[in-house]
Amino acid sequence: MARAWHLKSRPSGTPTSDNFELKEIGLPELGEGMVRVRNLWLSVDPYMRGRMNDVKSYVPPFQVGEPLEGGAIGEVVESKADAFAPGDLVQHMGGWRDEAVIDARTAQKLPHLGARPEQFLGVLGVTGITAYFGLLDAARAKQGDVVFVSAAAGAVGSVVVQVARARGMTVIGSAGGAEKCEFVRSLGADRVIDYKAGPLLKGLAEAAPDGIDVYFDNVGGDHLDAAFAIARNNARFAICGMIDAYNQREPMAFRFIQRIIAARIAVKGFIVFDYFPRMAEFYAEMAPWIADGTVKSRETVIDGLEKTPDAFLGLFKGENTGKMLIRL
Ligand code: NDP
Repeated sequence: MARAWHLKSRPSGTPTSDNFELKEIGLPELGEGMVRVRNLWLSVDPYMRGRMNDVKSYVPPFQVGEPLEGGAIGEVVESKADAFAPGDLVQHMGGWRDEAVIDARTAQKLPHLGARPEQFLGVLGVTGITAYFGLLDAARAKQGDVVFVSAAAGAVGSVVVQVARARGMTVIGSAGGAEKCEFVRSLGADRVIDYKAGPLLKGLAEAAPDGIDVYFDNVGGDHLDAAFAIARNNARFAICGMIDAYNQREPMAFRFIQRIIAARIAVKGFIVFDYFPRMAEFYAEMAPWIADGTVKSRETVIDGLEKTPDAFLGLFKGENTGKMLIRL
């Protein structure tokens, strides 16, 4: 028997632990082309909140009473697929559980890049790809740009800060609390705003007296509005996420949205999946950066499958610095 977290009920507003239930599940017989994987690391991510609503989006919603899923790193313990053998470390989407039987075509062996396995859920995984292509492709950020990134102490944000620095940009990061701001500074950010310590727009206007060329949005809400307010002409906004809105029942209000017109702001949403075909390009630049210390990776590690929902809920309370992970 395996144990898997199930969606017990759909959250309304901010989720609580009552929305989740840990249950034993029987795993199917291992068919041809399948592998049995013992999970070692699980990822919890803000986008999972959207999948808990019964709405059509770029990924199907989770179903009430059914197991949840998410990114995971595990070890193959049994294989009926030619390309996999017991002992192989793989990344796959059978997370929120301790063991999974999956179609081997949905698993990828971890490449040999001298990295820790869990880094493939963070800086060398979806998190890193999101940061890298969101900044360089969606926002078309280039050397000399002034870049503002929100949730800069989080998984994606902390990589954006470092990629922007490595590519010769000036970086302004925002984060909640003095400790996180110190962390963002330690990553090389030129200026840091503690959005919990005072009005964000004032802090941003002081940090960027001549405006910003690029905004990498992880938050939405008043962060996005402040970025509209101070954007330079022809600024580019990469809209990665809007965590401030995920649990809100009321629509967002923007005072400065009309500056899109006067300042000719290009606003581009993106989904990381679209960049998966460019993984080799990403590894080629990111792996050496990690090896030589240009990009540092930080994880907040919570132990035990039982803690998975707590770790997920912690994302909305700012309990993580860097990537939030569960170690089994
Ligand atoms: P993080 O590691 O950044 O964790 C979330 C962080 O957001 C928290 O630590 C907290 O930091 C901050 N936060 C939470 N609530 C609020 C709020 N109401 N206002 C301001 N800040 C808040 O998560 P990820 O790096 O995994 O994800 C960052 C964003 O990127 C999310 O919006 C996510 O949905 C999005 N994303 C989008 C992808 C895409 O394909 N477009 C792919 C991956 C992620 P603090 O303590 O500083 O407030």
